[in-house]
Amino acid sequence: MIERIASSAEAAKMVRGLPSLEVRDQIARECVNIAYGFFSPLQGFMNRADVDSVARQMTLANGYVWSIPIVLDAAPDELSGLGVRSGDSLLLTHQGHPLAVMEIEEIYSYDKEFLARQIYGTAETAHPGVQRTHSYRDRFVAGPVTLVNPPVMNPPFDRFWRTPRQIRESFAQLGWTKVVAHQTRNVPHSGHEWLMKGAWLAAGADGILVSAVVGEKKPGDYIDEAIVLGHQCLRDAGFFRQDVHQTSILLWDMRYAGPREAVFHALVRKNLGCTHHMFGRDHAGVGNYYGTYAAHQIFDELPDLGIKSVLTLEWWYCPICAGVAYEGLCGHQDQKQELSGTYIRSIIQGGVEPAPLTLRPEVLEVVQDCAQKYGFGSPFVTETYLQDRTPVMSMQDMACRCCSDT
Ligand SMILES: [Zn+2]
Repeated sequence: MIERIASSAEAAKMVRGLPSLEVRDQIARECVNIAYGFFSPLQGFMNRADVDSVARQMTLANGYVWSIPIVLDAAPDELSGLGVRSGDSLLLTHQGHPLAVMEIEEIYSYDKEFLARQIYGTAETAHPGVQRTHSYRDRFVAGPVTLVNPPVMNPPFDRFWRTPRQIRESFAQLGWTKVVAHQTRNVPHSGHEWLMKGAWLAAGADGILVSAVVGEKKPGDYIDEAIVLGHQCLRDAGFFRQDVHQTSILLWDMRYAGPREAVFHALVRKNLGCTHHMFGRDHAGVGNYYGTYAAHQIFDELPDLGIKSVLTLEWWYCPICAGVAYEGLCGHQDQKQELSGTYIRSIIQGGVEPAPLTLRPEVLEVVQDCAQKYGFGSPFVTETYLQDRTPVMSMQDMACRCCSDT
């Protein structure tokens, strides 16, 4: 288990006199994930040997299965301006405040076109992951990072933010030995609720960890606040017992890498102490780049990862069964009423009265509250939300932390 957090006394010494590089949101989130062990066994941003091995054979250079490159990119002139080279330490800042110290192990360049093709299985720039890879600047800076100034999570995310250590401790307190992870970027409708219930039964699990991905947003996505509070509402309203359900956040920018991202999600949730991971239709996919169940099939080709995948088919509303029914059981395919994202969106936007058993009224109420409180009137991301929302995490002055520690 990796944990690379400096005490405030150590941190003050570590940062003294270092050249500094301001990092964007994605990189700041990844620093936090490395430092708290979400990305164990990574201790820092990847070197060339690891990136190359991940690209070619989906393992780190030491053979450990790893599917997504975690790299810190920088412009060549930015680095020469700082005058840093291998062996130097570099202060990474975010929002103008110290965040982490990196011990530079290597500065290198890598063929981005090759990398994109290997990770995403396509070179088409319409793919958002390919686009992200091409937008990386021309040098990658590798080396271990240590957090010197942990960010503060803002409400309501502070309630859902726990480090891998804290999550494992909470599982131990609850007596959970088998835990099924549910990855989400959605407000939960009844289909999601039943997916979780079905996976819990299928895995013989003690608990369900909802792990909401919080990262870059685009207009039309659900606002982050509605996602986490919507899931929490399922527990508060008793659809899940208090002792079988927890909601948490994972700071991560989706790569839409389909099967490779499924493997990555499994590795991260294993680090949280989960024993099972749910994978539905087209998990972490985009467009038509991956097979519907590619995220399931990839696990067959891998050695035991220490976390099992739970295959989840679709749930729909069936008027003949008179309830939410499972694709694998209900034979009234021609009568099914799909719980599609579009349908649920129209309910949330107020155009359609929710049919029973589609969206819990309690969840709808929470989502509508979130729209007013956090979404500038909308439960979906707008340009206003992107510009004016309260950030998920904020940096504060290092001095403040020293004072508050003593
Ligand atoms: Zn049926």
